[in-house]
Amino acid sequence: MDSVQTNERRHPPLRDALSFLLFPLTFGASLATAFWGIAAEVHRGLLLAGILGVVLLLITIFERVHPEHAEWNQARGDVGTDLVHLGISGLLVPRAVEAAIVVAVAGALSLLAGLIGSPLWPSSASLAMQLVLALLVSQFFEYWFHRLAHTVPLLWRLHATHHSPGRLYWLNAVRFHPLDTAVSVTLSFGSVTLLGASEEVLVVLSVWIAVHGLFQHCNIRLRLGPLNWIFSMAELHRWHHSPRLDEANNNFGNNILLWDIIFGTVYWPRDRTADSAVGLHDMPSFPQHYLGQLASPFRWKAIEEEGQRTDSAEEASP
Ligand SMILES: [Zn+2]
Ligand SMILES: [Zn+2]
Repeated sequence: MDSVQTNERRHPPLRDALSFLLFPLTFGASLATAFWGIAAEVHRGLLLAGILGVVLLLITIFERVHPEHAEWNQARGDVGTDLVHLGISGLLVPRAVEAAIVVAVAGALSLLAGLIGSPLWPSSASLAMQLVLALLVSQFFEYWFHRLAHTVPLLWRLHATHHSPGRLYWLNAVRFHPLDTAVSVTLSFGSVTLLGASEEVLVVLSVWIAVHGLFQHCNIRLRLGPLNWIFSMAELHRWHHSPRLDEANNNFGNNILLWDIIFGTVYWPRDRTADSAVGLHDMPSFPQHYLGQLASPFRWKAIEEEGQRTDSAEEASP
């Protein structure tokens, strides 16, 4: 019995309140700060960096004092790889794709609006309403790309990197092959930008996606109860990282659960929580260093064969 469980026995109401409140309070405060910052015309980059800095500090603290699985806090030689993912798939690729989208879409947008005779995006609605609309549209495309990535073998080669870690902690939020990130960002930001969403909408959408993603993968014991029907939070997303395909091929929503509800892919056992065993158990030779993961979609067969050799060598040894 570890100290966390002992503490939970001693202070169950406090621990339960923390499990339920930490995400909604932090998430609500982050969005409120984003809305305030936009109204006060704070520099967008500073606003995003400030919000994410505070959220990261909180997550780092609570992963230590209130973990889901204590063993997930032990580094497994994965932090360096994940920091490279943070730089490339977390920062560089999204910014580059967004900049390309803005340039590419500007012409198409005025053409579309001219053909239809009115702007496509309801810019006069409140920022909160525009955020809801941006979420519905962007997450519809992210849902289907994510779902196809689990069912189309060639796309799975791109997405497997995200499912490769043997533990879950906040940095897994950015562990993506850059091509996976590029397509996903093109679909989600491209769709709302093409419809004419303003930069303010994209900023609050970015705050939602970033803060939600960090909590979705964090190693904090979160229990959201009915809020799980709105967010696609850690409790459900941990099932998505299960090595068992019947459990993992569900809960595809990256930020909201709505499209999983509508398309029938919610997996939420009420009698148990996800086990600490996560990862690609059928691919024991999947590379754990960055360059290997970068090359993995293009040398897939070789990685599978290496895994089969490892399996048969283990079976042959006494
Ligand atoms: Zn996935
Ligand atoms: Zn994930």
